[in-house]
Amino acid sequence: MTNKVLGCYYMDDCIFCRIINGEIPSYTIYQDKKTLAFLDINPNTRGHTLVIPKKHAKNIIDMEDTDVEALFRTVKKVVSSMKVSLDLDGLNLVVNQGEVAGQVIHHFHCHIIPRYVDDGINYSSKGYSSSTEELEELAGKISVNI
Ligand code: 5GP
Ligand code: ZN
Repeated sequence: MTNKVLGCYYMDDCIFCRIINGEIPSYTIYQDKKTLAFLDINPNTRGHTLVIPKKHAKNIIDMEDTDVEALFRTVKKVVSSMKVSLDLDGLNLVVNQGEVAGQVIHHFHCHIIPRYVDDGINYSSKGYSSSTEELEELAGKISVNI
C-alpha cells in the first residue's frame, strides 16, 4: 500500500521507506528533499554507501526524471566527499535491478562502493561474448528514439 507521508510516497513493508521515515536507524551521509544517502549496514568495502530516492520506486523506469536527476546529483556529492575523506583508489557505482541481478530491496538504490588496491572484490567477470553481427543487431534493437 502506498501512503503519502511527509510529502513522500511510502510503502509500509519497505525497509528503505522505513529508514527515510526514521523508523529504522541508519548512518546518514547526506539528505535533501528528494534523496537520502546512508551507509550500507553490510558493506562490501569500507564506506559502502547507498543513495535512494525518498519517493518509493522499485526501479529507475518507475522514477520521475526529476527524481533520477536529483539522485545522480546526490551520487556526485557523495563521491566528491569520499574523494577527500577516504583514502580510496577508485569506486564502483552499482544498481541491481531485478532478483536475477541481485536486487534484494525493492526500492531503487545506487550503491557507491569505494575501492582499495587489493580489496579482493572482483566485478569484472565477462560471462558473454558478442559477434560483430550481434553487436550491430543489438545496437539497432536497443537504439533509443529521440
Ligand atoms: P541490493 O542487493 O538490493 O542491491 O542491496 C541492498 C543493500 O541494502 C545490501 O547491500 C544490504 O546490505 C543493504 N541493507 C539491507 N538492509 C539494510 C538496513 O536495514 N540498513 C542499511 N543501512 N542497509 C541495509
Ligand atoms: Zn520504499
